[in-house]
Amino acid sequence: MIESRLFDVVIIGAGPAGCASAYQLAESGLTIAVLDKDVFPRDKVCGDALSADVTNQFHRMDSALAEAFLKQNPKKASNGVRFFAPNHKSLDIPFKNPKYKEAAGFVMKRLDFDAFFAEEIKKVPNIKVFENHKVKAIEIKENSVFIETSQSIFQTKIIIGADGANSIVNRKLSLNKIDKKYHSGGLRQYFKNVTGLNESGFIELHFYKEILPGYFWVFPLPDNKANVGLGILSSEISKQNIHLKEKFTHLLNNHPNLKDRFKNAKPLEDIKGFGLPLGSKKKQLSGNRFLLLGDAANLIDPFTGEGIGNAIRSGRIAATHIEEAFKTNRFDADFNKKYDTKIYQAMWKELRVSKSLQNLLKYPWLFNFLVKKANKNKSVQLLLTSMLDDVNLKKELVKPSFYVKLLFNF
Ligand SMILES: Cc1cc2nc3c(=O)[nH]c(=O)nc-3n(C[C@H](O)[C@H](O)[C@H](O)COP(=O)(O)OP(=O)(O)OC[C@H]3O[C@@H](n4cnc5c(N)ncnc54)[C@H](O)[C@@H]3O)c2cc1C
Repeated sequence: MIESRLFDVVIIGAGPAGCASAYQLAESGLTIAVLDKDVFPRDKVCGDALSADVTNQFHRMDSALAEAFLKQNPKKASNGVRFFAPNHKSLDIPFKNPKYKEAAGFVMKRLDFDAFFAEEIKKVPNIKVFENHKVKAIEIKENSVFIETSQSIFQTKIIIGADGANSIVNRKLSLNKIDKKYHSGGLRQYFKNVTGLNESGFIELHFYKEILPGYFWVFPLPDNKANVGLGILSSEISKQNIHLKEKFTHLLNNHPNLKDRFKNAKPLEDIKGFGLPLGSKKKQLSGNRFLLLGDAANLIDPFTGEGIGNAIRSGRIAATHIEEAFKTNRFDADFNKKYDTKIYQAMWKELRVSKSLQNLLKYPWLFNFLVKKANKNKSVQLLLTSMLDDVNLKKELVKPSFYVKLLFNF
């Protein structure tokens, strides 16, 4: 019989959520195992866009970690977003990051970003990272949890499911079911030599009628490379019988805003797809001796598709909860419900506004109107800049009165 390895906390997944929870527990004195099926550096299908929130989350965890991240390369600073409206017109909105001096956002391959974060947690003495350990079975007993991986068995007090969109912790321990209304299908392909990119590294979001309520993106990377992709709501993919890869290639080769820009661009890989569990509906985030984090907890912004910032935020919140659990020796479902409450207190307002914005995409003419107004009026542009990182201002975008005011020039 294989002897089980004993740890206070076992975290499944060394992506942003898993690394953040482990890092935040560094000073707790608890013994922590982080298990991942892959070996780092490893790829993760993603747009690779790191919003200001990601840097801000690092600052909130530890200024040394934020500094280390800011020194990491290769990554490209991004100072704004270029929206393409359904009528093909574009609008540039610069980002602002009022809290810190650095660029507001970055685009960095997940291969590099996740390897950086995994390296940081490997430096912490009470954290042990087990790569090439795919979790196959989980069993909750009265006083502990047993976890069977491809290589060994672990025993712990509490298990953290930071294992992404297809989380085994979610599938085995929660009552959650995948609902296509709250899930997107996405794909990515790296390119070199895409022309017409903004010089300040603005990321591009293209909202065209045939892909709403989803979008096509071009995110500039260093060395004249770009992360190019497409994400569409899974319920729409089924309803309209969309073949995502074909739609993507069709847009690249035929769309008037894209075809010339991609004429001499070189694909650097085959098209790769992955799912995005959106934070459009509350779900069960914990239970007896387990918590769900990041994508396993459906915390992706339904409008922008960003999930890295919330994955790290959930890691921070989970760590505080776990410290409390060990202090009070409570790991039961009732106690862990506090974690669900804290997560939604921190994120639900923003997720709900983003869900409403996603619904607005059903009215492409509204988007066209907003872009037209903002292109003509500097103060509307400034307002949109502020809205990008202020949830209370963003809420205005989903109110009919906002558009009435715009129509009559305030
Ligand atoms: C096409 C696409 C584009 C996106 N673009 C962006 C973007 O531009 N910006 C942004 O902020 N977000 C984006 N996202 C969302 C972002 O990728 C996720 O929100 C983020 O990766 C969530 O982090 P996580 O740590 O929860 O999960 P993950 O990053 O998925 O990490 C989970 C980890 O768990 C491991 N694992 C899984 N199963 C097991 C198992 N059984 N045993 C052991 N280990 C396991 C995996 O190997 C992985 O390392 C995009 C997503 C997709 C699909």
